[in-house]
Amino acid sequence: MRSYTLIAPAKINLYLEILGMRPDGFHELAMIMQSIELADCIEINANGTDNIRLHCNHPEVPLDRTNIAYRAAKLMAEQFPECFAKFGGIDIEIDKRIPVAAGLAGGSTNAAAVLIGLDLMWNLGLTQSELQELAALLGSDVPFCIAGGTAIATGRGEILSPLPDLDNLYLVLAKYRSLGVSTAWAYTTYREKFADTYACDTSTIQERSTKLNSGALVSAIAHKDSKKIGKSLYNDLEKVVLPAHPQVEQLRQAFQNQDILGTMMSGSGPSVFALVESLTQAQQIKNQVETTINNPDLDLWITRFRPTGITVEN
Ligand code: ATP
Repeated sequence: MRSYTLIAPAKINLYLEILGMRPDGFHELAMIMQSIELADCIEINANGTDNIRLHCNHPEVPLDRTNIAYRAAKLMAEQFPECFAKFGGIDIEIDKRIPVAAGLAGGSTNAAAVLIGLDLMWNLGLTQSELQELAALLGSDVPFCIAGGTAIATGRGEILSPLPDLDNLYLVLAKYRSLGVSTAWAYTTYREKFADTYACDTSTIQERSTKLNSGALVSAIAHKDSKKIGKSLYNDLEKVVLPAHPQVEQLRQAFQNQDILGTMMSGSGPSVFALVESLTQAQQIKNQVETTINNPDLDLWITRFRPTGITVEN
């Protein structure tokens, strides 16, 4: 049986607003997500056993049942038991290039790749929305990772509304290698500090969510106005992550001091990105920030916006 190699891109948040609490214990969010070219590579092979086996080249990625790529394969085996019985177990090989626990949806995109890979391997012919429904059972960012591109994400992040592609922008992405931020910690801390700002009823949540649709960033994206996009970046979680991690604040400031379109922390952090208009500019900013911060623990990448989510290589 043939194997599948999938490219699983990371995402950044151009916008992340926390609107309130949901009855299911998750936060009600209004976000704009963007796929980027920085990606993991996932290979899926039938292994002729009854087991799902996982391999990864990154020491911080768990290789047990807590790995979200494993959970994605398990979910598919439970949903389509006749296929699992017919085709047997699989080996999942993760070539991890996306930094871990960085606010870049590294795990979520691996899970999305496994769903798409098994759909192909088992000839299921699932539609994008069927794949996204399964994805929502695994995590809030997984549905976005299936289709990728540029999209408004509301609800827990699983209600998606695509926006026009923005394939013209570059970014310099930075993260301290030894620093990871737990998404759960960031949201819990935000709730402890800012619960009084939460919308309490569904109509207010709806109203605030709709405001994003008619807001400056969506209009800037529609008009491909890079300068306005840079000025409209927003992330509520900076309010808790930056005070807790002064070196992230310092990194954010180092970008802010450069000639860039805008800078923001992605998701729950601690990765920070700076938007620029060209590759040459990205290289200059990367060199300058590297020199200013001068810390061997700081990793920097140059990447660009990507118009798609998971793609199949072979
Ligand atoms: P998100 O932006 O979706 O909240 P993140 O980018 O902040 O996620 P991940 O890289 O997905 O964070 O990692 C979060 C934690 O999930 C890690 O600390 C790791 O232990 C665990 N994990 C489980 N499966 C994976 C996976 N396939 N890749 C990376 N981390 C994984």
